[in-house]
Amino acid sequence: MNTSDILAHFGLKPSGTQIVHSPIDGAEIGRVAYDDAKSVEEKIGKSVQAFKAWREVPAPKRGELVRLFGDDLRANKEPLGRLVTLEAGKIVQEGLGEVQEMIDICDFAVGLSRQLYGLTIASERPGHRMMEQWLPAGVVGIVSAFNFPVAVWAWNAALALVCGDSVIWKPSEKTPLTALACQVLFERAAKRFAGAPAHLSQVILGLRDVGEAMARDPRVPVVSATGSTRMGRELAPVVAARFGKPILELGGNNAMIVAPSAKLDLALRAILFSAVGTAGQRCTSLRRLFVHDSIYDTLVPQLKAVYAKLPIGNPLDQSTLVGPLIDKQAFDNMERALGSARDEAGKISGGGRVLTDRFPHAFYVKPAIVEMKDQTPTVCHETFAPILYVMRYSKFDEAVAKQNAVPQGLSSCIFTQDMQEAEKFVSASGSDCGIANVNIGPSGAEIGGAFGGEKETGGGRESGSDAWKAYMRRQTATINYSDALPLAQGIEFAV
Ligand code: NAD
Repeated sequence: MNTSDILAHFGLKPSGTQIVHSPIDGAEIGRVAYDDAKSVEEKIGKSVQAFKAWREVPAPKRGELVRLFGDDLRANKEPLGRLVTLEAGKIVQEGLGEVQEMIDICDFAVGLSRQLYGLTIASERPGHRMMEQWLPAGVVGIVSAFNFPVAVWAWNAALALVCGDSVIWKPSEKTPLTALACQVLFERAAKRFAGAPAHLSQVILGLRDVGEAMARDPRVPVVSATGSTRMGRELAPVVAARFGKPILELGGNNAMIVAPSAKLDLALRAILFSAVGTAGQRCTSLRRLFVHDSIYDTLVPQLKAVYAKLPIGNPLDQSTLVGPLIDKQAFDNMERALGSARDEAGKISGGGRVLTDRFPHAFYVKPAIVEMKDQTPTVCHETFAPILYVMRYSKFDEAVAKQNAVPQGLSSCIFTQDMQEAEKFVSASGSDCGIANVNIGPSGAEIGGAFGGEKETGGGRESGSDAWKAYMRRQTATINYSDALPLAQGIEFAV
Protein backbone atom coordinates (compact mmCIF):
# COMPACT_ATOMS: atom_id res chain seq x y z
CA MET A 1 0.00 0.00 0.00
CA ASN A 2 1.35 3.43 -0.86
CA THR A 3 0.67 6.60 1.14
CA SER A 4 -2.49 7.60 -0.68
CA ASP A 5 -3.92 4.05 -0.42
CA ILE A 6 -3.32 4.07 3.32
CA LEU A 7 -4.91 7.48 3.80
CA ALA A 8 -7.85 6.45 1.60
CA HIS A 9 -8.20 3.23 3.61
CA PHE A 10 -8.93 5.35 6.70
CA GLY A 11 -10.97 7.87 4.73
CA LEU A 12 -8.48 10.62 5.55
CA LYS A 13 -8.67 13.58 3.18
CA PRO A 14 -6.64 16.78 3.39
CA SER A 15 -8.45 19.39 5.48
CA GLY A 16 -7.14 22.60 6.94
CA THR A 17 -3.82 24.30 6.40
CA GLN A 18 -1.38 22.48 8.69
CA ILE A 19 0.97 20.39 6.58
CA VAL A 20 2.05 16.98 7.84
CA HIS A 21 5.47 15.83 6.62
CA SER A 22 6.81 12.30 6.63
CA PRO A 23 10.19 11.96 8.34
CA ILE A 24 11.04 9.34 5.69
CA ASP A 25 11.65 11.91 2.95
CA GLY A 26 10.17 15.18 4.21
CA ALA A 27 7.29 14.91 1.69
CA GLU A 28 3.85 16.26 2.49
CA ILE A 29 1.56 13.37 3.40
CA GLY A 30 -1.49 15.25 4.58
CA ARG A 31 -3.11 18.44 5.81
CA VAL A 32 -5.07 18.90 8.99
CA ALA A 33 -6.95 21.67 10.76
CA TYR A 34 -5.96 22.68 14.27
CA ASP A 35 -8.35 23.18 17.14
CA ASP A 36 -8.44 26.42 19.08
CA ALA A 37 -9.45 27.32 22.63
CA LYS A 38 -13.11 27.57 21.62
CA SER A 39 -13.31 24.17 19.93
CA VAL A 40 -11.41 22.56 22.81
CA GLU A 41 -13.94 24.07 25.19
CA GLU A 42 -16.81 22.68 23.10
CA LYS A 43 -15.27 19.23 22.82
CA ILE A 44 -14.77 19.06 26.59
CA GLY A 45 -18.45 19.99 27.02
CA LYS A 46 -19.46 17.12 24.70
CA SER A 47 -17.12 14.77 26.53
CA VAL A 48 -18.79 15.61 29.84
CA GLN A 49 -22.16 14.68 28.32
CA ALA A 50 -20.73 11.43 26.93
CA PHE A 51 -19.27 10.60 30.35
CA LYS A 52 -22.62 11.07 32.06
CA ALA A 53 -24.20 8.45 29.80
CA TRP A 54 -21.21 6.09 29.72
CA ARG A 55 -20.77 5.82 33.48
CA GLU A 56 -24.25 4.25 33.66
CA VAL A 57 -23.29 1.41 31.29
CA PRO A 58 -22.16 -1.68 33.28
CA ALA A 59 -18.41 -2.14 33.14
CA PRO A 60 -18.48 -5.58 31.41
CA LYS A 61 -20.65 -4.02 28.67
CA ARG A 62 -18.16 -1.19 28.36
CA GLY A 63 -15.57 -3.90 27.88
CA GLU A 64 -17.57 -5.14 24.91
CA LEU A 65 -16.95 -1.84 23.08
CA VAL A 66 -13.22 -2.13 23.74
CA ARG A 67 -13.38 -5.72 22.44
CA LEU A 68 -14.98 -4.49 19.20
CA PHE A 69 -12.34 -1.80 18.89
CA GLY A 70 -9.64 -4.45 19.42
CA ASP A 71 -11.20 -6.48 16.58
CA ASP A 72 -10.97 -3.46 14.28
CA LEU A 73 -7.35 -2.98 15.24
CA ARG A 74 -6.62 -6.63 14.41
CA ALA A 75 -8.29 -6.21 11.02
CA ASN A 76 -6.38 -2.98 10.34
CA LYS A 77 -3.02 -3.81 11.88
CA GLU A 78 -1.15 -3.63 8.59
CA PRO A 79 -2.40 -0.23 7.30
CA LEU A 80 -2.26 1.39 10.73
CA GLY A 81 1.24 0.03 11.36
CA ARG A 82 2.33 1.40 7.99
CA LEU A 83 0.80 4.77 8.75
CA VAL A 84 2.84 4.82 11.98
CA THR A 85 5.94 4.19 9.85
CA LEU A 86 5.00 6.94 7.40
CA GLU A 87 4.29 9.52 10.06
CA ALA A 88 6.74 8.66 12.86
CA GLY A 89 9.49 7.03 10.77
CA LYS A 90 9.84 3.81 12.76
CA ILE A 91 10.55 0.62 10.82
CA VAL A 92 7.53 -1.42 9.72
CA GLN A 93 8.20 -4.16 12.29
CA GLU A 94 8.03 -1.56 15.06
CA GLY A 95 4.98 0.13 13.55
CA LEU A 96 3.18 -3.22 13.53
CA GLY A 97 4.47 -3.92 17.05
CA GLU A 98 2.90 -0.69 18.20
CA VAL A 99 -0.50 -1.69 16.83
CA GLN A 100 -0.07 -5.12 18.47
CA GLU A 101 0.46 -3.28 21.75
CA MET A 102 -2.89 -1.56 21.20
CA ILE A 103 -4.53 -4.93 20.58
CA ASP A 104 -2.90 -6.38 23.71
CA ILE A 105 -4.10 -3.54 25.93
CA CYS A 106 -7.63 -3.88 24.52
CA ASP A 107 -7.58 -7.58 25.48
CA PHE A 108 -6.29 -6.67 28.93
CA ALA A 109 -8.98 -4.02 29.36
CA VAL A 110 -11.76 -6.40 28.30
CA GLY A 111 -10.74 -8.79 31.09
CA LEU A 112 -10.36 -5.89 33.48
CA SER A 113 -13.92 -4.79 32.74
CA ARG A 114 -15.10 -7.82 34.73
CA GLN A 115 -12.80 -7.01 37.64
CA LEU A 116 -12.30 -3.40 38.83
CA TYR A 117 -12.25 -4.87 42.31
CA GLY A 118 -13.06 -2.97 45.48
CA LEU A 119 -12.70 -4.12 49.09
CA THR A 120 -14.96 -5.00 51.95
CA ILE A 121 -13.55 -3.76 55.24
CA ALA A 122 -14.57 -4.93 58.72
CA SER A 123 -16.57 -2.16 60.40
CA GLU A 124 -16.13 -1.47 64.14
CA ARG A 125 -19.85 -0.67 64.37
CA PRO A 126 -22.49 -3.39 64.71
CA GLY A 127 -24.98 -3.67 61.83
CA HIS A 128 -22.68 -1.75 59.47
CA ARG A 129 -20.93 -2.70 56.28
CA MET A 130 -17.95 -0.75 55.03
CA MET A 131 -16.58 -1.01 51.51
CA GLU A 132 -14.20 0.68 49.20
CA GLN A 133 -15.30 1.01 45.61
CA TRP A 134 -13.90 2.44 42.41
CA LEU A 135 -16.13 4.72 40.37
CA PRO A 136 -15.60 6.38 36.98
CA ALA A 137 -13.49 9.55 37.26
CA GLY A 138 -14.89 11.66 34.38
CA VAL A 139 -13.27 13.07 31.27
CA VAL A 140 -9.72 11.79 30.82
CA GLY A 141 -7.42 14.07 28.82
CA ILE A 142 -4.58 12.31 27.01
CA VAL A 143 -1.53 14.16 25.72
CA SER A 144 0.85 11.99 23.73
CA ALA A 145 4.33 12.18 22.22
CA PHE A 146 5.36 11.60 18.59
CA ASN A 147 7.42 8.48 19.20
CA PHE A 148 4.58 6.20 20.26
CA PRO A 149 1.86 7.89 18.26
CA VAL A 150 -0.84 5.25 18.79
CA ALA A 151 0.12 2.76 21.54
CA VAL A 152 0.32 5.29 24.37
CA TRP A 153 -3.14 6.62 23.58
CA ALA A 154 -4.48 3.05 23.56
CA TRP A 155 -2.89 2.29 26.95
CA ASN A 156 -4.82 5.18 28.37
CA ALA A 157 -8.01 5.02 26.35
CA ALA A 158 -8.69 1.27 26.65
CA LEU A 159 -8.41 1.45 30.45
CA ALA A 160 -10.28 4.74 30.78
CA LEU A 161 -13.16 3.44 28.65
CA VAL A 162 -13.72 0.28 30.67
CA CYS A 163 -13.40 2.40 33.82
CA GLY A 164 -16.41 4.41 32.59
CA ASP A 165 -14.61 7.58 31.51
CA SER A 166 -14.82 9.53 28.28
CA VAL A 167 -11.55 10.51 26.61
CA ILE A 168 -10.10 13.44 24.71
CA TRP A 169 -6.80 12.93 22.95
CA LYS A 170 -4.30 15.57 22.02
CA PRO A 171 -1.68 13.75 19.94
CA SER A 172 1.71 15.17 19.06
CA GLU A 173 1.54 17.87 16.40
CA LYS A 174 4.07 15.69 14.51
CA THR A 175 1.69 12.70 14.25
CA PRO A 176 -1.92 13.88 13.77
CA LEU A 177 -2.81 11.45 10.96
CA THR A 178 -2.33 8.29 13.03
CA ALA A 179 -4.59 9.86 15.66
CA LEU A 180 -7.28 10.59 13.09
CA ALA A 181 -7.00 7.01 11.76
CA CYS A 182 -7.49 5.63 15.31
CA GLN A 183 -10.50 7.89 15.70
CA VAL A 184 -12.00 6.48 12.49
CA LEU A 185 -11.51 2.92 13.78
CA PHE A 186 -12.93 3.79 17.17
CA GLU A 187 -16.02 5.39 15.64
CA ARG A 188 -16.58 2.30 13.49
CA ALA A 189 -16.47 0.11 16.61
CA ALA A 190 -18.74 2.51 18.51
CA LYS A 191 -21.30 2.33 15.69
CA ARG A 192 -21.48 -1.44 16.02
CA PHE A 193 -21.97 -1.18 19.77
CA ALA A 194 -25.50 -0.44 20.84
CA GLY A 195 -25.41 2.28 23.45
CA ALA A 196 -22.13 4.13 22.97
CA PRO A 197 -22.82 7.83 23.53
CA ALA A 198 -21.67 10.29 20.88
CA HIS A 199 -18.29 11.92 21.50
CA LEU A 200 -17.10 9.19 23.86
CA SER A 201 -13.63 9.53 22.37
CA GLN A 202 -12.50 12.70 20.62
CA VAL A 203 -9.31 14.11 19.16
CA ILE A 204 -8.06 17.67 19.47
CA LEU A 205 -5.27 18.72 17.17
CA GLY A 206 -2.80 21.50 17.67
CA LEU A 207 0.33 22.71 19.39
CA ARG A 208 0.92 22.86 23.10
CA ASP A 209 -1.66 25.64 23.57
CA VAL A 210 -4.53 23.19 23.02
CA GLY A 211 -2.90 20.75 25.45
CA GLU A 212 -2.67 23.57 27.96
CA ALA A 213 -6.32 24.51 27.43
CA MET A 214 -7.28 20.94 28.31
CA ALA A 215 -4.90 20.89 31.30
CA ARG A 216 -6.48 24.06 32.66
CA ASP A 217 -10.08 22.91 32.39
CA PRO A 218 -11.61 21.73 35.71
CA ARG A 219 -14.05 19.50 33.78
CA VAL A 220 -11.10 17.19 33.00
CA PRO A 221 -10.30 15.49 36.33
CA VAL A 222 -7.48 13.28 34.97
CA VAL A 223 -4.81 14.41 32.51
CA SER A 224 -2.42 11.71 31.37
CA ALA A 225 0.56 13.31 29.68
CA THR A 226 3.40 11.56 27.89
CA GLY A 227 6.33 13.55 26.59
CA SER A 228 9.46 15.38 27.66
CA THR A 229 10.27 16.35 31.21
CA ARG A 230 10.03 19.96 30.07
CA MET A 231 6.41 19.38 29.05
CA GLY A 232 5.63 17.69 32.38
CA ARG A 233 7.17 20.59 34.28
CA GLU A 234 4.85 22.97 32.48
CA LEU A 235 1.69 20.89 32.46
CA ALA A 236 1.72 19.29 35.93
CA PRO A 237 1.43 22.54 37.93
CA VAL A 238 -1.46 23.67 35.71
CA VAL A 239 -3.38 20.46 36.45
CA ALA A 240 -2.38 20.47 40.13
CA ALA A 241 -3.41 24.13 40.59
CA ARG A 242 -7.05 23.08 40.08
CA PHE A 243 -6.50 19.80 42.01
CA GLY A 244 -6.82 17.62 38.92
CA LYS A 245 -4.87 14.37 38.80
CA PRO A 246 -1.91 14.29 36.40
CA ILE A 247 -0.46 10.97 35.22
CA LEU A 248 3.03 11.82 34.02
CA GLU A 249 5.13 9.66 31.67
CA LEU A 250 8.19 11.77 30.93
CA GLY A 251 11.79 11.47 29.79
CA GLY A 252 14.11 8.58 30.54
CA ASN A 253 17.88 8.07 30.59
CA ASN A 254 18.07 4.33 30.68
CA ALA A 255 21.07 2.21 31.53
CA MET A 256 22.48 -1.29 31.22
CA ILE A 257 25.16 -2.83 33.40
CA VAL A 258 27.09 -5.64 31.76
CA ALA A 259 28.71 -7.73 34.49
CA PRO A 260 31.71 -10.08 34.10
CA SER A 261 29.47 -13.19 34.09
CA ALA A 262 27.06 -11.83 31.43
CA LYS A 263 26.23 -13.84 28.34
CA LEU A 264 27.81 -11.39 25.94
CA ASP A 265 25.94 -12.54 22.86
CA LEU A 266 22.60 -11.82 24.58
CA ALA A 267 23.87 -8.50 25.94
CA LEU A 268 25.04 -7.46 22.49
CA ARG A 269 21.66 -8.17 20.91
CA ALA A 270 19.84 -6.37 23.70
CA ILE A 271 22.12 -3.35 23.40
CA LEU A 272 21.50 -3.13 19.68
CA PHE A 273 17.71 -3.36 19.86
CA SER A 274 17.41 -0.91 22.70
CA ALA A 275 20.07 1.62 21.64
CA VAL A 276 19.38 1.91 17.91
CA GLY A 277 15.77 0.65 17.66
CA THR A 278 13.36 3.46 16.71
CA ALA A 279 16.59 5.38 15.93
CA GLY A 280 17.09 5.93 19.66
CA GLN A 281 13.73 7.67 19.96
CA ARG A 282 12.06 5.52 22.61
CA CYS A 283 11.52 6.77 26.12
CA THR A 284 13.14 3.47 27.16
CA SER A 285 16.02 3.61 24.64
CA LEU A 286 19.36 2.52 26.04
CA ARG A 287 21.49 5.62 26.53
CA ARG A 288 24.10 4.61 29.13
CA LEU A 289 26.10 1.40 29.12
CA PHE A 290 28.30 0.41 32.09
CA VAL A 291 30.68 -2.38 31.14
CA HIS A 292 32.89 -4.21 33.62
CA ASP A 293 36.62 -3.60 33.14
CA SER A 294 37.29 -7.28 32.58
CA ILE A 295 35.07 -7.53 29.47
CA TYR A 296 35.16 -3.96 28.18
CA ASP A 297 37.84 -4.64 25.58
CA THR A 298 35.91 -7.63 24.27
CA LEU A 299 32.38 -6.22 24.20
CA VAL A 300 32.94 -2.65 23.03
CA PRO A 301 34.93 -3.52 19.86
CA GLN A 302 32.25 -6.11 18.97
CA LEU A 303 29.59 -3.49 19.45
CA LYS A 304 31.44 -1.02 17.26
CA ALA A 305 31.79 -3.66 14.56
CA VAL A 306 28.04 -4.30 14.52
CA TYR A 307 27.27 -0.56 14.57
CA ALA A 308 29.46 -0.12 11.47
CA LYS A 309 27.20 -2.52 9.53
CA LEU A 310 23.78 -1.27 10.66
CA PRO A 311 21.27 -1.06 7.82
CA ILE A 312 20.17 2.59 7.90
CA GLY A 313 17.52 3.66 5.45
CA ASN A 314 13.89 3.90 4.43
CA PRO A 315 11.90 2.36 7.31
CA LEU A 316 9.43 0.89 4.80
CA ASP A 317 12.20 -1.40 3.45
CA GLN A 318 12.14 -4.77 5.19
CA SER A 319 15.92 -4.86 5.58
CA THR A 320 16.20 -1.49 7.39
CA LEU A 321 16.83 -1.49 11.14
CA VAL A 322 17.47 2.24 11.62
CA GLY A 323 15.04 4.74 10.14
CA PRO A 324 15.18 8.54 10.24
CA LEU A 325 15.04 10.98 13.12
CA ILE A 326 11.71 12.73 13.37
CA ASP A 327 12.95 16.14 12.17
CA LYS A 328 15.77 18.65 11.88
CA GLN A 329 15.41 19.74 15.47
CA ALA A 330 16.11 16.16 16.61
CA PHE A 331 19.19 16.09 14.38
CA ASP A 332 20.43 19.42 15.73
CA ASN A 333 19.96 18.15 19.29
CA MET A 334 22.02 15.06 18.46
CA GLU A 335 24.82 17.16 16.95
CA ARG A 336 24.81 19.45 19.96
CA ALA A 337 25.02 16.54 22.41
CA LEU A 338 27.89 14.95 20.47
CA GLY A 339 29.69 18.32 20.47
CA SER A 340 29.32 18.64 24.24
CA ALA A 341 30.40 15.04 24.80
CA ARG A 342 33.52 15.72 22.72
CA ASP A 343 34.25 18.78 24.87
CA GLU A 344 33.93 16.50 27.90
CA ALA A 345 36.65 14.17 26.50
CA GLY A 346 34.23 11.67 24.95
CA LYS A 347 35.64 9.39 22.20
CA ILE A 348 33.01 9.26 19.45
CA SER A 349 32.44 6.51 16.88
CA GLY A 350 29.66 7.03 14.36
CA GLY A 351 27.26 9.94 14.39
CA GLY A 352 26.64 12.40 11.56
CA ARG A 353 24.04 12.67 8.82
CA VAL A 354 23.81 10.06 6.06
CA LEU A 355 21.75 9.43 2.88
CA THR A 356 21.50 13.14 2.14
CA ASP A 357 21.59 12.50 -1.63
CA ARG A 358 18.59 10.20 -1.53
CA PHE A 359 16.72 12.04 1.21
CA PRO A 360 17.81 15.70 1.18
CA HIS A 361 14.77 16.73 3.23
CA ALA A 362 14.99 14.01 5.90
CA PHE A 363 17.40 13.33 8.74
CA TYR A 364 19.06 9.92 8.76
CA VAL A 365 22.03 9.51 11.10
CA LYS A 366 24.65 6.95 11.98
CA PRO A 367 23.99 5.83 15.54
CA ALA A 368 26.88 6.94 17.77
CA ILE A 369 28.88 5.20 20.47
CA VAL A 370 30.60 7.62 22.80
CA GLU A 371 33.18 6.27 25.24
CA MET A 372 33.21 8.46 28.33
CA LYS A 373 35.53 8.41 31.35
CA ASP A 374 32.86 9.89 33.60
CA GLN A 375 29.15 10.41 33.76
CA THR A 376 29.30 14.07 32.69
CA PRO A 377 26.37 16.55 32.53
CA THR A 378 25.86 15.64 28.84
CA VAL A 379 25.45 11.96 29.78
CA CYS A 380 22.95 12.87 32.51
CA HIS A 381 20.74 14.68 29.98
CA GLU A 382 18.22 12.79 27.78
CA THR A 383 19.02 13.45 24.11
CA PHE A 384 16.29 11.86 22.01
CA ALA A 385 18.59 10.32 19.40
CA PRO A 386 20.75 7.20 18.94
CA ILE A 387 23.69 8.12 21.17
CA LEU A 388 25.03 5.43 23.47
CA TYR A 389 27.43 6.59 26.19
CA VAL A 390 29.72 3.76 27.27
CA MET A 391 31.59 3.75 30.58
CA ARG A 392 33.80 1.28 32.46
CA TYR A 393 33.20 0.11 35.97
CA SER A 394 35.05 -2.13 38.35
CA LYS A 395 32.73 -2.63 41.36
CA PHE A 396 29.07 -3.63 41.20
CA ASP A 397 27.97 -1.09 43.83
CA GLU A 398 29.71 1.69 41.96
CA ALA A 399 27.89 0.73 38.73
CA VAL A 400 24.48 0.74 40.45
CA ALA A 401 25.24 4.09 42.12
CA LYS A 402 26.22 5.62 38.76
CA GLN A 403 23.18 4.16 37.07
CA ASN A 404 20.99 5.82 39.67
CA ALA A 405 22.89 9.13 39.62
CA VAL A 406 20.80 10.81 36.91
CA PRO A 407 17.64 12.90 37.28
CA GLN A 408 15.47 10.43 35.34
CA GLY A 409 14.23 7.06 36.60
CA LEU A 410 12.45 5.15 33.85
CA SER A 411 14.16 1.90 32.84
CA SER A 412 17.26 -0.06 33.75
CA CYS A 413 18.78 -3.49 33.38
CA ILE A 414 21.69 -5.75 34.21
CA PHE A 415 23.20 -8.63 32.27
CA THR A 416 24.64 -11.10 34.72
CA GLN A 417 24.59 -14.80 35.59
CA ASP A 418 25.48 -14.00 39.20
CA MET A 419 22.36 -14.51 41.29
CA GLN A 420 23.52 -12.18 44.02
CA GLU A 421 24.04 -9.32 41.57
CA ALA A 422 20.69 -9.99 39.91
CA GLU A 423 18.82 -9.99 43.21
CA LYS A 424 20.65 -6.93 44.52
CA PHE A 425 19.81 -5.07 41.32
CA VAL A 426 16.07 -5.45 41.91
CA SER A 427 16.30 -4.98 45.71
CA ALA A 428 15.59 -1.83 47.72
CA SER A 429 19.21 -0.73 47.39
CA GLY A 430 19.37 -1.60 43.67
CA SER A 431 17.95 0.20 40.65
CA ASP A 432 15.82 3.25 41.50
CA CYS A 433 13.84 3.04 38.25
CA GLY A 434 10.21 2.15 37.55
CA ILE A 435 11.45 -0.71 35.35
CA ALA A 436 14.34 -3.00 36.32
CA ASN A 437 15.22 -6.00 34.13
CA VAL A 438 17.68 -8.86 34.41
CA ASN A 439 19.10 -10.25 31.17
CA ILE A 440 16.58 -8.20 29.14
CA GLY A 441 17.26 -4.77 27.63
CA PRO A 442 15.55 -1.64 29.01
CA SER A 443 13.07 -1.21 26.16
CA GLY A 444 10.17 -3.20 24.76
CA ALA A 445 7.95 -3.63 27.83
CA GLU A 446 4.93 -5.94 27.88
CA ILE A 447 1.56 -4.39 28.60
CA GLY A 448 0.82 -6.61 31.64
CA GLY A 449 3.09 -4.68 33.98
CA ALA A 450 2.58 -1.11 35.17
CA PHE A 451 4.67 1.17 32.96
CA GLY A 452 6.33 4.35 34.19
CA GLY A 453 9.23 5.76 36.12
CA GLU A 454 10.43 7.74 39.09
CA LYS A 455 12.08 11.14 39.64
CA GLU A 456 11.96 13.37 36.52
CA THR A 457 10.15 10.60 34.63
CA GLY A 458 7.14 11.81 36.56
CA GLY A 459 5.99 8.91 38.79
CA GLY A 460 2.97 7.96 36.67
CA ARG A 461 1.99 4.40 35.87
CA GLU A 462 0.03 3.28 32.82
CA SER A 463 -0.95 0.06 31.09
CA GLY A 464 -1.11 -3.16 33.17
CA SER A 465 -1.21 -4.23 36.81
CA ASP A 466 -3.42 -1.87 38.84
CA ALA A 467 -2.68 1.22 36.72
CA TRP A 468 -6.46 1.37 36.06
CA LYS A 469 -6.99 2.85 39.52
CA ALA A 470 -5.65 6.20 38.30
CA TYR A 471 -8.63 6.44 35.92
CA MET A 472 -11.22 6.02 38.67
CA ARG A 473 -12.19 7.75 41.87
CA ARG A 474 -12.00 5.85 45.13
CA GLN A 475 -14.95 5.92 47.45
CA THR A 476 -15.33 4.53 50.97
CA ALA A 477 -19.00 3.75 51.56
CA THR A 478 -20.43 2.64 54.90
CA ILE A 479 -23.97 1.30 55.13
CA ASN A 480 -25.85 1.13 58.40
CA TYR A 481 -28.45 -1.68 58.31
CA SER A 482 -29.14 -1.61 62.07
CA ASP A 483 -31.77 0.34 64.04
CA ALA A 484 -29.17 2.26 66.00
CA LEU A 485 -26.73 5.03 65.19
CA PRO A 486 -23.46 4.08 66.89
CA LEU A 487 -20.65 6.58 66.28
CA ALA A 488 -17.13 5.55 65.33
CA GLN A 489 -14.53 5.62 68.10
CA GLY A 490 -17.40 5.04 70.57
CA ILE A 491 -18.18 8.75 70.79
CA GLU A 492 -21.36 9.57 72.76
CA PHE A 493 -23.32 12.50 71.31
CA ALA A 494 -26.80 12.21 72.71
CA VAL A 495 -29.28 15.10 72.92
P1 NAD B 1 7.12 16.82 23.82
O1 NAD B 1 7.23 17.05 25.27
O2 NAD B 1 7.76 17.80 22.91
O3 NAD B 1 5.58 16.73 23.39
C1 NAD B 1 4.73 15.77 23.92
C2 NAD B 1 3.29 16.24 23.83
O4 NAD B 1 3.09 17.29 24.77
C3 NAD B 1 2.91 16.82 22.47
O5 NAD B 1 1.58 16.44 22.18
C4 NAD B 1 2.99 18.33 22.71
O6 NAD B 1 2.19 19.10 21.85
C5 NAD B 1 2.50 18.41 24.14
N1 NAD B 1 2.94 19.59 24.92
C6 NAD B 1 4.15 20.16 24.92
N2 NAD B 1 4.19 21.14 25.83
C7 NAD B 1 2.98 21.17 26.44
C8 NAD B 1 2.40 21.97 27.46
N3 NAD B 1 3.10 22.94 28.06
N4 NAD B 1 1.13 21.71 27.84
C9 NAD B 1 0.42 20.73 27.25
N5 NAD B 1 0.91 19.96 26.26
C10 NAD B 1 2.18 20.17 25.86
O7 NAD B 1 7.71 15.34 23.54
P2 NAD B 1 8.02 14.63 22.17
O8 NAD B 1 9.23 15.24 21.53
O9 NAD B 1 6.79 14.47 21.36
O10 NAD B 1 8.41 13.16 22.71
C11 NAD B 1 9.67 12.81 23.20
C12 NAD B 1 9.70 12.85 24.72
O11 NAD B 1 8.65 12.06 25.26
C13 NAD B 1 10.97 12.22 25.27
O12 NAD B 1 11.41 13.00 26.35
C14 NAD B 1 10.53 10.85 25.73
O13 NAD B 1 11.35 10.27 26.73
C15 NAD B 1 9.16 11.14 26.23
N6 NAD B 1 8.32 9.94 26.26
C16 NAD B 1 8.06 9.38 27.47
C17 NAD B 1 7.32 8.21 27.53
C18 NAD B 1 7.05 7.55 28.84
O14 NAD B 1 6.19 6.68 28.87
N7 NAD B 1 7.72 7.89 29.91
C19 NAD B 1 6.80 7.65 26.35
C20 NAD B 1 7.07 8.27 25.14
C21 NAD B 1 7.83 9.42 25.11
